[in-house]
Amino acid sequence: MRELPINQPPISGNKSALRRMGTEVYLAWRLKLLQSLQTSLEPEVVLNRFWQQVQEQLELRGMKFITTSNEEYLCGSQGLHQCQYQLTGEDGTLGELSFSRGKRFSETELSQLEDMISLLVFPLRNALQYQALARFSLRDPLTGLGNRAALDAALQRELQLAQRHNQYLSLLMIDLDHFKQINDQHGHAMGDQVLKLVGNCIQQACRNSDMSFRFGGEEFVVILRNTDANGALVIAERLRLQVAQLQMPMAISPTVSIGIGTCVPGTQLQPDQLFDCADHALYQAKKLGRNRTQI
Ligand code: GH3
Ligand code: MG
Ligand code: MG
Repeated sequence: MRELPINQPPISGNKSALRRMGTEVYLAWRLKLLQSLQTSLEPEVVLNRFWQQVQEQLELRGMKFITTSNEEYLCGSQGLHQCQYQLTGEDGTLGELSFSRGKRFSETELSQLEDMISLLVFPLRNALQYQALARFSLRDPLTGLGNRAALDAALQRELQLAQRHNQYLSLLMIDLDHFKQINDQHGHAMGDQVLKLVGNCIQQACRNSDMSFRFGGEEFVVILRNTDANGALVIAERLRLQVAQLQMPMAISPTVSIGIGTCVPGTQLQPDQLFDCADHALYQAKKLGRNRTQI
């Protein structure tokens, strides 16, 4: 694998792109590529634009970029022959970029490709940094779950999707029981530990496509796609029992109460209305003695 530094100078001399197009035309093409890469802060868009334009110069079948956190971006399809580049900047590795096609790459083609990649590195780095920041701003730092802002955006989107596709959508509102007592008896740090474990438990108990959020202090929300009230009840009960079985130091045994709200196909509920349904059910669960689920 080739290591490609961020400050790669443009190719010079008698390389094929220059020969074919002429220096000025190629430099203009380079500038156009750079400008188009710089107009987006979405890694997917930057990579797609690069892929589209690089094919104007080279015959390629596929391109793959894998970030340092193992996220994959794929363009085109796989070919037999590959070349790979480790993209590095001053502040570390961005990931691995590879190209493939049916026939071998010549040295001239590789240096041409490297010249083009050198234009990609800065815009891609900016886009990846922006994406990381945006994601970070939607996470709750204590539990790693989505935060309130992420929940608001997700609920709006999921309700619209459910209504468009005529599907159920359920929402679990989960509140720790007598959590203030845990804080009072064992300290705030232990309280935080409980929140972390319960957050983890919520994520484990729910299916992959479900979305879990920390709504506020000791309250969590789970959005369940394509799930009616009975389906939501099964998931909520599984989750409630798992929390009740958590092994904690100092014989702390947290429990949760859960309220379920469901949007039925054919109805036009707003996010606030679905929240109110779940909140009302949660209030009932508390009133009926806690450590229970209510529809
Ligand atoms: P209930 O069963 O009625 O829900 O009782 P509760 O004690 O859980 O509810 P209450 O609203 O009275 O108290 C919630 C407590 O959660 C009070 C607050 O100090 C605590 N809390 C909120 N955020 C955090 C946090 O980030 N860390 C810790 N350790 N405690 C928190
Ligand atoms: Mg509460
Ligand atoms: Mg509570």
